[in-house]
Amino acid sequence: MLLAHQSKLQPNQTQIAAMERCLHLLRLQYNFRLGERIEAYEQVTQPKLGEYSDLETKAVIYPLTCSISKSALYGEAYKTNKKGEVKRKSAYEMQSSDLPNLKSLRPWYKEIPSQPLQQTLMQLDDAFQRFFKGLGGYPKPKRRGKFRSFTYPAGACEFQGNKVRLPGFGWMRFHQSRQFPDGFKPKKVTVRKKTNGWYISVCLEDATVPATPQPNEVKTAVGIDLGINKLASLSDEQTIANPKFYKQQEKKRKRLNRAASRKQKGSNKRRKVYERLARVEQKVTNQRNDYQWKVAHRLTKKYDLIVFEDLNVQGMMKRCKPKWSEDESRYLENGQSRKVGLNKAIQDASWYSLKQKIKVLAERYGVLVHEVNPRHSSQECSQCGFVSPTNRDKEKFLCESCNYHADADIQAAINILNRGLEELGIKLKIRRVTSKSTPKKLVERQGKSTVKPVESGNKSDKPVVAIQLSLFDLMGFCPESPSKSVI
Ligand SMILES: [Zn+2]
Repeated sequence: MLLAHQSKLQPNQTQIAAMERCLHLLRLQYNFRLGERIEAYEQVTQPKLGEYSDLETKAVIYPLTCSISKSALYGEAYKTNKKGEVKRKSAYEMQSSDLPNLKSLRPWYKEIPSQPLQQTLMQLDDAFQRFFKGLGGYPKPKRRGKFRSFTYPAGACEFQGNKVRLPGFGWMRFHQSRQFPDGFKPKKVTVRKKTNGWYISVCLEDATVPATPQPNEVKTAVGIDLGINKLASLSDEQTIANPKFYKQQEKKRKRLNRAASRKQKGSNKRRKVYERLARVEQKVTNQRNDYQWKVAHRLTKKYDLIVFEDLNVQGMMKRCKPKWSEDESRYLENGQSRKVGLNKAIQDASWYSLKQKIKVLAERYGVLVHEVNPRHSSQECSQCGFVSPTNRDKEKFLCESCNYHADADIQAAINILNRGLEELGIKLKIRRVTSKSTPKKLVERQGKSTVKPVESGNKSDKPVVAIQLSLFDLMGFCPESPSKSVI
């Protein structure tokens, strides 16, 4: 398993200037190679006629009816392998073979270390591979603020205690907040520029990882319902608070944004305000990461199996469809302005990154993680399986069929756990939870002599059983199985 240790670097002024220059040149190179690949890619999709030559023989070919290269424009297109066969190079290999040429044409590229230059081409190739597989969008040129790191391959950097030698920049110290494990082998080393300095991220191979447990070894399991008011509700009645770090800094952020807008564009004062704003954003990220790691540690140390809902966060944050009125020939209010606040809260909770952290730790501690379909998880009754949107009344859950009542989020977490256990084929006894207070609706309903008919219609005698059950609940007596209460 690969682990990353991140530490803050302590470079001197010369080293900082050199690293800034390196980032700048790498970004230019990334964008130049991207342009090359885009042009080559468009040649395949929409071939253009023009003056071209054959790459192997350099003979002029005109007019061109098919593209000569589908990956890159510069560099050698063919290679000879050990058996003497002539093979076509991949896009990365073609671009990489052009690097000596680049250094002779633009000598300032000799100043920066060669490994990050190679890695930048790999990074670009990765972006295209992801696009071809449908995992990512079409690669875009990177602006100055978006290109902030460079990488060394395994074995390029040397470590001595809390010192590291980065080729091209020399030795520098770093704050080693966590000791590297004994006899570690650094894989990749990434240098990253952040608002408050330079950081080094060392990728380590950790061989001491326990095997993932089999479903039959699971003894403790938990279902987790993610939310905004409460970050997570667990199936064992516990809740995890959502500190809303982004919202906490909202006043400060707004004030700084206003201050920036009053300053002249391109001025030093404006830049300084933006730097302060960036530090606020950085603080929010740090606070959230710290909190989420703590939550993830707590959960993975306690349970053998963690079941999540498979949320489509992107879909939840989609814009509302515009409403066009023919009569008034104008757009009507579609609720988007109200949704902006919800979207912000969803982003602030960042469920995805919490899940990712739990998955990382789960692999480290040997915990099983499973995701289930969240469909109707908050509308379904965990006791009788009755599904209705009216079952839920804000924070409370009150089943219209069996009168089971509990906290809505905890009830949803139980449903999630039930689904996970069923999908994995695990038999585990789940404790029945009921809310301490009796909902007003239930008291009103029990005052009436008639019982509301059940829509599900699988068993006609179910409501009768249900009423008896809830009466037992009210008396503070909770039977273990519904069959006992009938007697
Ligand atoms: Zn029910």
